[in-house]
Amino acid sequence: MTERTFSIIKPDATKRNLTGKINAVIEESGLRIVAQRRIRMTQEEAEDFYDVHRERPFYGELVEFMISEPVVVQVLQGDNAVARYREVMGATNPAQAADGTIRKLFALSVGENSVHGSDSVDNAKIEIAQFFDEADIVG
Ligand code: GDP
Repeated sequence: MTERTFSIIKPDATKRNLTGKINAVIEESGLRIVAQRRIRMTQEEAEDFYDVHRERPFYGELVEFMISEPVVVQVLQGDNAVARYREVMGATNPAQAADGTIRKLFALSVGENSVHGSDSVDNAKIEIAQFFDEADIVG
């Protein structure tokens, strides 16, 4: 079924000029980039976005990381896009990520792991709505 998922190319990747290389992996997987914008996240946006992790010991570090450099926010579309992109990203910790995944190829550590992808269709809708107007998504 055709779905949409929300993706972020994180600061460790934009800083190393990896946007194009990561987009190539996304496109080669069959997912389509139907909206994309480079932004500097505000502290409030990063705190809201990762609210689910507020009680975790790495929350402060995570928020600081996400506002440390520009990020690229994206909407990806395709068959089973949510699960498909989780596969394409690989495990959270790059040491455990499968060969060929974005995190295996590019991530530096469990924190600086190059990309975000929604973990459910419901969360994808919420996350997309935080950063995009429907009119800016061209499927
Ligand atoms: P994801 O869905 O694979 O991105 O993983 P999670 O939802 O578990 O964690 C969200 C994000 O928090 C991860 O992508 C990392 O950037 C960060 N994170 C997770 N675990 C750690 C950790 O142990 N230390 C640090 N610094 N960041 C972490």
